[in-house]
Amino acid sequence: MWNSPKVGILGGGQLGRMLVESANRLNIQANILDADNSPAKQISSHDGHVTGSFKEPDAVRKLAESCDVITAEIEHVDTYALEEVASKVRVEPSWQAIRTIQNKFNQKEHLRKYGIPMAEHRELVNNTPEELAQIGEELGYPMMLKSKTMAYDGRGNFRVNSKEDIPEALEALKDRPLYSEKWAYFKMELAVMVIKTKDDVLSYPTVETVQEDSICKLVYAPARNVPDAINQQAQALARKAVSAFEGKGAFGVEMFLLEDNSLMLCELASRIHNSGHWTIEGCALSQFDSHIRAILDLPIPPKSLELLQPSIMLNIIGGATPDSHLKATEAALSIPNASIHLYSKGAAKPGRKMGHVTVTAATMHEAETMIQPLIDVVDTMRA
Ligand code: ATP
Ligand code: MG
Ligand code: MG
Repeated sequence: MWNSPKVGILGGGQLGRMLVESANRLNIQANILDADNSPAKQISSHDGHVTGSFKEPDAVRKLAESCDVITAEIEHVDTYALEEVASKVRVEPSWQAIRTIQNKFNQKEHLRKYGIPMAEHRELVNNTPEELAQIGEELGYPMMLKSKTMAYDGRGNFRVNSKEDIPEALEALKDRPLYSEKWAYFKMELAVMVIKTKDDVLSYPTVETVQEDSICKLVYAPARNVPDAINQQAQALARKAVSAFEGKGAFGVEMFLLEDNSLMLCELASRIHNSGHWTIEGCALSQFDSHIRAILDLPIPPKSLELLQPSIMLNIIGGATPDSHLKATEAALSIPNASIHLYSKGAAKPGRKMGHVTVTAATMHEAETMIQPLIDVVDTMRA
């Protein structure tokens, strides 16, 4: 029977906020660990929240005391604190999964054992120009220098076009643990949201993502003009990659579709993901609904993850001026079938995700036509 479970969430940003929206509709109390007035807390009035950071062991311990299950909206959390509380409270997905995934190099070393295809890469041990130059000889240029940890929205990536870029690249990612990846000449980026339940690995349809400066701009659901065979391969790759980790909940899998139609993993996230926001309008159960159900062992009818209508999601990102996102929102108000989600994060900064808009229509072509004026507005406001 329904027992009003309490879910603890490490992180109260926009992903936590959308989890709360789902939890609220089922009368499930979500206790958020983050700063007061974080986006998730703003829409959830009760006294179960914890003030602090998901990087502070004491705060994680305090959250654990009041919850039936703990989850995270971000992978950059203190997994040692999670390991400690795991003896008292359920942690989903597992702290082991989060610990491995939060370090992109370790994540890839782990996935390699499962035969997941990915770009060739090399670890940097000393972060010296000589070391990176040697790696450049091996991988060729351009290559993508990446921070192993604390990476998001491309902050942690530096494209190294030639040997001459090496000093600038090492300066940009100074004091961070690094590895470098061979350039992936992709014709398209694909993503699949996978939901791991107590006895199943389910997935949402394959989508196409468009990144600008390494940050997600647009998501097309379903992916446009992708033959069914490739779609099936993307689904299989995503499920196989996620199956390599323990624990329940949503996982975001990003992939490159290469010129020869082969697929390669870009990276995997142990959480709800930007590439799955379209599911709020595009499916009967959103990725947030499914995550909450998966971690609480509630039923998820697989049919509820099917696409209801073609959907396009556009991120509203902080632009050249502090009010760029408001101007974009204003324009979105006049777009037919546009659902607007603002995150209430306060001041916009260039590159900061402030909200998103999803347009659904009977056909992808129609959705494209409807959202184009908004894309034009957003393009003129780029930082
Ligand atoms: P996220 O916000 O998704 O967590 P991130 O900061 O962890 O992003 P990645 O997903 O590794 O960064 O890379 C961001 C984008 O940079 C990719 O979606 C892709 O467009 C580009 N990119 C990453 N690696 C490569 C590569 N090896 N070759 C070419 N492009 C790449
Ligand atoms: Mg990432
Ligand atoms: Mg990514």
